[in-house]
Amino acid sequence: MNYKLNISSRKEALIKLLDVIIKHENEIIQALYDDFKKPPFESIATETSYVISELKDTIKNIRKWSKIRRVFPSVLNFPSTDYIVKEPYGKVLIIAPWNYPFQLAICPLVSAVAAGNQVVLKPSELTPKTSAILLKIVEKSFQHQHVRVIEGGVETAQKLLAQRWDYIFFTGSVAVGKIVAKAAAEHLTPVTLELGGKNPCIIDETANLKLAARRIVWGKFMNAGQTCIAPDYILIQEDMKSHFVEFLKTEITKAYGKNPKKSPDFARIVNEKNCIRLMSLIEPEKVIFGGETDIEDHYIAPTLIEENSLDSLLMQEEIFGPILPIISYRDEKEISQTISRYEKPLALYVFTDDRKFARKIVTTFTFGGGCVNDTVIHFTNKRLPFGGVGHSGIGAYHGQLSFDTFSHKKGIVKKANWLDLDLRYAPYANKINILKKILNWL
Ligand code: NAD
Repeated sequence: MNYKLNISSRKEALIKLLDVIIKHENEIIQALYDDFKKPPFESIATETSYVISELKDTIKNIRKWSKIRRVFPSVLNFPSTDYIVKEPYGKVLIIAPWNYPFQLAICPLVSAVAAGNQVVLKPSELTPKTSAILLKIVEKSFQHQHVRVIEGGVETAQKLLAQRWDYIFFTGSVAVGKIVAKAAAEHLTPVTLELGGKNPCIIDETANLKLAARRIVWGKFMNAGQTCIAPDYILIQEDMKSHFVEFLKTEITKAYGKNPKKSPDFARIVNEKNCIRLMSLIEPEKVIFGGETDIEDHYIAPTLIEENSLDSLLMQEEIFGPILPIISYRDEKEISQTISRYEKPLALYVFTDDRKFARKIVTTFTFGGGCVNDTVIHFTNKRLPFGGVGHSGIGAYHGQLSFDTFSHKKGIVKKANWLDLDLRYAPYANKINILKKILNWL
């Protein structure tokens, strides 16, 4: 069924969604807490407020973003008027992860709706309370044939992927991203894949170590390290290492107290399986801070690891938990050797006071996006594209780019009839020289 809505109706639907979300904000925060003790502050900052702001921004700009856009015509087609028409793809499937289970489900949904699509959203089964509230919110906000939530796990996702879609937007792991890409290829369905990777965090000898430690502890241990753009490992100039480790310890204690297990601001690991996976990565002799675990409580303390081998288990895959390996480097060649060992990461961070070094790092390595002298915050600017490259993802979104992601763009030339030059038409005899002259001139 073709379910095209005009801009006013899309806007109305989004205003309704905004209203329902605002009314249910406390329930959402509670669901996130029940799922993995996400601290309410983090839920407001990174989930509900973020979504509300995205919705308001979309509602404000929907007319502007959906407008037909004139572009400069090609002289070859003179006289013409050229323009781009955006249209919805049609039926969109969104598959969401559990780590920011509200935001990463609703934000793409908002843009897909704004662009005029029908949407089916499958939230993660690992955060069932949030999945239930997503279902409730969508049912209260949209007509069934416009937007639907289908709850379920792997089997449900596979059944959905077996159907034909006009666009698939997936956020999750690299391994499942490949499954999604294969399923999409069956019908040549365009995809956005928002995946993960091992995000380096480089600190040179000119960096403000105290501030770097504060900002890294925030970005790494927020959501108990279960953030796709959290720093995965530290690469620090070797002379700075011991000094920096002391700053890190101080900052962790300042943020979460002497016993982070008792801190209301430190989340839990989403489930036992992930807890066991993370515990298996900790080699006790390498622990320089933290290391405590409690499988029943799904608790892993903020943990610092002195890492001297890239062959360790910890340095094979994305960590996705509150364990931070610290690796030292002697020179830039060693930075390059370490980063190049891994697939292109989703994020990269560099802490330095040396502008040339920062520029060099940012332009030499390929990664999704990142920050100089901070972590994670590039996510918050709607004017920056957010997405990976290579194994960390395909495509990008946020702000207007999200709207464009869910829109097919048609390029149209409207040719005038008052002039019809003879040049392009056969017979071509004697026209080659004129053609060459025109093409050279252009
Ligand atoms: P995941 O890939 O295990 O699951 C994501 C979704 O895919 C879930 O809805 C799940 O039900 C579904 N799924 C799982 N196995 C499937 C299968 N075999 N076939 C079809 N569907 C399947 O990811 P996750 O554990 O929920 O999230 C963690 C990962 O997501 C990390 O790698 C993280 O870096 C990445 N991530 C990326 C971003 C980003 O914006 N780039 C954001 C958050 C998380």
